[in-house]
Amino acid sequence: MSDAIEGLLEEGRTFPPPPEFAATARVRDSSLQAAADADPEAFWAGQAAELLDWDRPWDRVLDWQPPDAQWFLGGTLNVAHNCVDRHVAAGLGDRVAFLWEGEPGDERAITYAELQDEVSRAANALLALGIERGDRVAIYMGMVPELPIAMLACARIGAAHSVVFGGFTADSLRGRINDAEAKALITCDGAWRRGAVVPLKDIADEALQDAPSVHHCIVLRRTDHGVSMTPGRDHWWHDLVEAQSEHCPPEPMDAEQLLFILYTSGTTAKPKGIMHTTGGYLTQVASTFRNVFDIRPESDVYWCTADCGWVTGHSYIVYGPLANGATSVIYEGTPDHPDKDRFWAIVEKYGVTILYTAPTAIRTFMKWGDEYPQRRDLSSLRLLGSVGEPINPEAWIWYHDVIGHGRTPIVDTWWQTETGAIMISPLPGATPLKPGSATFPLPGVGADVVGDDGEPVGVPGGGYLVLNRPWPSMLRGVWGDPQRFRDTYWSRFEGLYFAGDGAKRDADGYLWLLGRVDDVMLVSGHNISTAEVESALVDHHAVAEAAVVGTTDATTGQAVSAFVILRSGNVASDDLVRELRDHVAKLIGPIAKPKSILFTDDLPKTRSGKIMRRLLRNVAEDESLGDTTTLADPSVVAGIRDRYLASNAGGDDE
Ligand code: ATP
Ligand code: MG
Repeated sequence: MSDAIEGLLEEGRTFPPPPEFAATARVRDSSLQAAADADPEAFWAGQAAELLDWDRPWDRVLDWQPPDAQWFLGGTLNVAHNCVDRHVAAGLGDRVAFLWEGEPGDERAITYAELQDEVSRAANALLALGIERGDRVAIYMGMVPELPIAMLACARIGAAHSVVFGGFTADSLRGRINDAEAKALITCDGAWRRGAVVPLKDIADEALQDAPSVHHCIVLRRTDHGVSMTPGRDHWWHDLVEAQSEHCPPEPMDAEQLLFILYTSGTTAKPKGIMHTTGGYLTQVASTFRNVFDIRPESDVYWCTADCGWVTGHSYIVYGPLANGATSVIYEGTPDHPDKDRFWAIVEKYGVTILYTAPTAIRTFMKWGDEYPQRRDLSSLRLLGSVGEPINPEAWIWYHDVIGHGRTPIVDTWWQTETGAIMISPLPGATPLKPGSATFPLPGVGADVVGDDGEPVGVPGGGYLVLNRPWPSMLRGVWGDPQRFRDTYWSRFEGLYFAGDGAKRDADGYLWLLGRVDDVMLVSGHNISTAEVESALVDHHAVAEAAVVGTTDATTGQAVSAFVILRSGNVASDDLVRELRDHVAKLIGPIAKPKSILFTDDLPKTRSGKIMRRLLRNVAEDESLGDTTTLADPSVVAGIRDRYLASNAGGDDE
């Protein structure tokens, strides 16, 4: 990466753990790290033994035939037992597992004892429909408590779930159902979103028209707006599930039994069905949830704002928190309903202590303005987290100051659908933070930055982020496509997992994620990362969010094209364009100056909120847009294309 940028991201302040936080933190020093470094396998085996209940102990910790890993061979356990039953057995049945709030304002508190009954009934319902160990069950629901209940019911009987985000279209749902050959679908009549009904069952009906593997569809009543039910195939949840017994013994599963398939968010390409198994996955999500979020299950109220349709929801709404016996908030709707302070109202109402959200949300809140969080009492918060994209230093500082009131550490957690659990993150009681850096690999995780030759680049240096050691929650493959597994992740560098992301280490060894290497721009022979130019733009007080891409340029090879969303109260002008270009030149260097800047109200994002730079590149290069099915709102990119062509965006050459 270019040296000129070195200054920008590193000159920022360093934030040591606040003393009052560090005093009681689970991890306060480097002893855990030292133990893991000495013997990573023994470290993970220790976590597995300490954090989980096993029906049968494993014979071997790890079998590693690159790129195929098996963890805890011969061991058996049940995920639902570990997430629910054992807490009830330990006398914690009255502890609240989920504090659920519907978008219209209705609420439910579900204790671990109630969760045990509900999961058991749902599991019996699946058994009654003939679902067996090894079958796949698709789940297409809004964020209602029955969504985690359905996931746990599958885990209880050894069926693998495939959760499909409730914002996907019938085509996307059908594609995922057919790819996994799901035997059953669990859905809702509808979901509440921004005050309106999303007709999930209608969409599911359309998907099921051409999904021959599905014999049964269970429908939860949520919006009660009237749906059609196909006799023989469709069953109301309240008829089928509620009639079942609440006794359903959790069956021991092999540690390598398939727990779920989850399709990646499709930011770069056609989604892949990522496979995760039982023992290793649960070990690492339980361990990382405990250490990264410094959880105190008896007193914390934790809230992860993701949807269960993404891996973040799987690992840090369902499995990690429940394995630790934590109390979590689940919110059904959007952050701007009925007003833009809804998230902060929820923090205030439930006394949320730990909040985990995404940079895209944080930048949206910045755009809306400080008045919304300032209306509410956020003093319960003691720790903040971020996941999904690089968080720009400016957004980090805003999150820290406006939401955390300058008191809370922030854990910037890097991981992927494929990694299953957090891989790179601060430990908030031990790691001094640098805004915008995910800091270091967690204990037991091997991550490095390598150059084109696969050799570590050293400190400081930039290149490709790789994982150089197997980890318990690693993907076990791509469903139905072993070749794609090898080609996508293991072919670039011999013996290394290549994550697709660029990264650099600064002089202190801190890791900075630089976005996807496919997005890196090559301007006059210099590599320039999208993340750094975007950070420089967002650093300007007028800018809420920015996306940059490289476009073909006759003189420089590639030129930087920027798409910018302004913070509320700012107006687009030619002067502002000049100011922003100069700002980037000042922070990074003239080489990184955007050639063109287009102001826009929206950016093309996946349904999980990530910017799809590939599409912006297509717009700037006037190419066909290709596959846009994973876009949240396909009209956004069409609008940008019209404006881009109308503006004749070319900028001036200097
Ligand atoms: P696809 O793989 O289909 O293109 P995707 O990569 O967006 O989709 P996910 O598995 O949801 O699907 O996202 C993982 C990616 O998100 C990472 O590879 C990285 O690019 C980005 N990411 C996640 N967390 C962070 C973080 N803390 N900092 C920087 N980037 C992050
Ligand atoms: Mg990916």
